[in-house]
Amino acid sequence: MADLAARLAEIVGPTHLLTGDAISADYGHDEALTIPPQQPAYLAKPATAEEVAALLAVATEHRVPVTARGSGCGLSGAAQPVADGLLISFERMNAVLEIDVDNHVAVVQPGVTLTELDVRTAEVGLSYTVYPGELSSSVGGNVGTNAGGMRAVRCGVTRHNVLGLQAVLPTGEIIRTGGKMSKISTGYDLTQLIIGSEGTLALATEVTVKLVPRPAHGVTVLAPFGDFDQIMAAVPKIISSGLNPTIVEYIDNVVMAAIVSAENLELGIPEAVRESCQAYLVVALENNHTDRLDADAETLGGLLSDWGALDAYVLQGNSARRLIEARENVFWTAKAIGADDIVDVVVPRASMPEFLRQARDIAAARGAAMSGCGHAGDGNVHGVLFCKDSQIRTKVLTEIFALGMRLGGAISGEHGVGRAKAKYFCDLEDPAKLALLRRIKDSFDPAGILNPGVVFA
Ligand SMILES: Cc1cc2nc3c(=O)[nH]c(=O)nc-3n(C[C@H](O)[C@H](O)[C@H](O)COP(=O)(O)OP(=O)(O)OC[C@H]3O[C@@H](n4cnc5c(N)ncnc54)[C@H](O)[C@@H]3O)c2cc1C
Repeated sequence: MADLAARLAEIVGPTHLLTGDAISADYGHDEALTIPPQQPAYLAKPATAEEVAALLAVATEHRVPVTARGSGCGLSGAAQPVADGLLISFERMNAVLEIDVDNHVAVVQPGVTLTELDVRTAEVGLSYTVYPGELSSSVGGNVGTNAGGMRAVRCGVTRHNVLGLQAVLPTGEIIRTGGKMSKISTGYDLTQLIIGSEGTLALATEVTVKLVPRPAHGVTVLAPFGDFDQIMAAVPKIISSGLNPTIVEYIDNVVMAAIVSAENLELGIPEAVRESCQAYLVVALENNHTDRLDADAETLGGLLSDWGALDAYVLQGNSARRLIEARENVFWTAKAIGADDIVDVVVPRASMPEFLRQARDIAAARGAAMSGCGHAGDGNVHGVLFCKDSQIRTKVLTEIFALGMRLGGAISGEHGVGRAKAKYFCDLEDPAKLALLRRIKDSFDPAGILNPGVVFA
């Protein structure tokens, strides 16, 4: 172990290789609610792709399990290290290498956080549109999980916004995929294969992302509905209305009451409306022209009322921002009120009401409860599960995941399989597909060092 530590320290420099108790407890977990923390044997903080390559070559030689870590705010346990393993933290590889205004791309190191990228792109009137709830997350971590977030309904998820990668294979080879162009037709798409692979195939050491012009003005419309099915019926109509919303979220009344209290929100909704409301729809619009934005907001308000909303409140400036932030913080609120797990099942948008009805019944039948919110525009339910007994919880989750798949969906829309869902994934997924995934994994990582226990149980 001392020999191996010495070799790793030689690669990154002694101050950037930590072992044993010198590794702070923070590195032993991400934000998954159900995965117990685990400290790694080694923590390396490389500064270059070459250092990452050398670390992986040594790890392959010694068959040491390796886990990559961005900001550690993933929700599926995929950044949690393995005992006796090496954790590679990308915190020192945090430079925005280039913002190419003519090509509308940025080239960044994986440890750059979304907050940093937002500040840098704002300086030139551009924007990177992937906003998963936690802006301290890193671009490399987003690549790992194929992060989504509220804007996916209009702007897509990470895989729609990453054009190319520099990546290090477990053998220590450095490859480049894609580039600063939006199309390529030369063989298999390795960029897309690596995105969403949760650190199990290759480690990204440089990411080329797509930028878009930053809209000047925004407005958020909050619409309470007395009937959840009416919300879901309104969603496809909003999307085909031509208003081109950037956000279409639902928040059920239980979660709304929790975030209003946790975040001290004042939304100006009369008590009578709150009491007869089953869930809320949150729709954000953006435009460079305030007059057009105002007109669109008015049109949207009118349409929402026609489609059954009890009312429609147009929020601007601070109140709009605070509502969106509160929605982003639902995970922290759920954790604070004792949620036992969260799910992010995705189903075809039109199947959401059916999924939610049956999922609630599944939970209730076993004495559990499911509440939540979600990305209504893209069928991604963020369910908060209350069920203390872990054996019952496993049964409830198995049934809920199976239901999502029966309805044509998947057990995760954006948080990933990680460690938390690996067993469910392997139990429920088509065996032929799983076998192919394993063969792909083996061809990238013949020694099986990258993130064992993640994706595959
Ligand atoms: C409050 C809150 C709200 C959230 N809301 C959303 C949401 O709306 N949508 C959403 O998608 N997610 C959401 N998340 C989850 C989280 O933001 C994402 O999973 C994010 O991608 C994690 O980024 P990270 O840098 O923290 O990655 P980590 O947690 O450090 O790592 C995530 C995965 O990526 C791998 N990885 C890290 N760096 C690299 C690299 N350089 N190359 C290859 N693999 C790598 C890790 O091994 C791991 O498998 C939320 C999390 C929180 C805490």
